[in-house]
Amino acid sequence: MTVAPAIYLDNAATTAVDPRVVACMLPWLHAQFGNPASRGHAFGWAAQEAVEQARADVAALVGAGAADIVWTSGATESNNLALKGALLSAHARGRHLVTVATEHSAVLDTARALQQQGIRLDVLAVDASGLLDLDRLRDALRGDTCLVSVMLVNNEIGVVQDVAAIGALCRERGILLHVDAAQATGKLPIDLRHLPVDLMSLTAHKTYGPKGIGALFVRRNPPVKLAAQMHGGGHERGLRSGTLATHQCVGMGEAFRLARLEMQAECARVRGLQRRLLAGIDRLGGVRINGDLAQRVPHNVNVSVDGVDGPELLQALEGVAVSSGSACASASLEPSHVLRALGCSDEQAHASLRLTLGRFTTADEIDVAILRLRDGVLRLRRQ
Ligand SMILES: *Cc1c(COP(=O)(O)O)cnc(C)c1O
Repeated sequence: MTVAPAIYLDNAATTAVDPRVVACMLPWLHAQFGNPASRGHAFGWAAQEAVEQARADVAALVGAGAADIVWTSGATESNNLALKGALLSAHARGRHLVTVATEHSAVLDTARALQQQGIRLDVLAVDASGLLDLDRLRDALRGDTCLVSVMLVNNEIGVVQDVAAIGALCRERGILLHVDAAQATGKLPIDLRHLPVDLMSLTAHKTYGPKGIGALFVRRNPPVKLAAQMHGGGHERGLRSGTLATHQCVGMGEAFRLARLEMQAECARVRGLQRRLLAGIDRLGGVRINGDLAQRVPHNVNVSVDGVDGPELLQALEGVAVSSGSACASASLEPSHVLRALGCSDEQAHASLRLTLGRFTTADEIDVAILRLRDGVLRLRRQ
């Protein structure tokens, strides 16, 4: 039996649900159990009202209209609906899809599945900092390009892509832009009133909400036509059938409402923790930061440490929960596809650690993590 780690520095994998969010969700599990689609009685009306308030709160965080928000089970489903929905729509402008090598597997694997069905796919390289070069994108766009999919914040290295510029380029050509923003909500301001983005994937559990609920922003003006991927009762503008999970919707709504109110102060505080952690790591010597440091959310530190093996270091870091590469990649012990895309060798990728900070991370925890990291690295380097 392993002891539960006391210090959680893996907030990019998932976050704790904020206790204020939990409190909001509870009544909707028992006392108020109506089906939000029941139009004939007060049980249904109450649930519907709660779901619509939550939809408005989710929309407000990203500057969307409530009517543009489609509930899903999370960003994986949202990414599937965006890519398959756009490319397989009868209204698709063409059958060419463009995405980026550092995307989450929920985009890359969906894109490859579409490729199996005859969709033409281009996966663009990034530069050594992890950012997409606009000229590279411009060169990839064609007359039959239907959709470009680029994430806002990378889940492994925390870098922020310039989706405003990418969107402007897509708009010029009449091409749709999808943005996976799973790691961005509550970490940087997003305003879809001004961002030329047509589709945006959101999820609750990276922003102190519950797992199993997310949303897809589907712009209605100018309208985006998607082919539904889940058929049934015609819920959610016919795009995603299935009874809504009222408690989950309410939880995501409250999590996003809190993020909107607290983001600015929280980011300033986390920025201080990031600096503290970076300074401590720098004193180890023989470390390099993976990904652009300036164009990055405050919540992420990703480093390769000379002379150690990531999985071994994870073991040595008893009591501190961090990731080596991405959560999914470390299960398979494949070198992270994101770090490989930055030009890291397999060795450097295996020697990497991702430490991700959040709302509940304290300065004391950072100090303890630095001490444990130093002990672990010194021990492994002596071996
Ligand atoms: C976590 C994550 C996903 C998957 O989201 P789920 O809600 O867990 O399905 C997709 N994209 C990115 C960038 C993520 O970080």
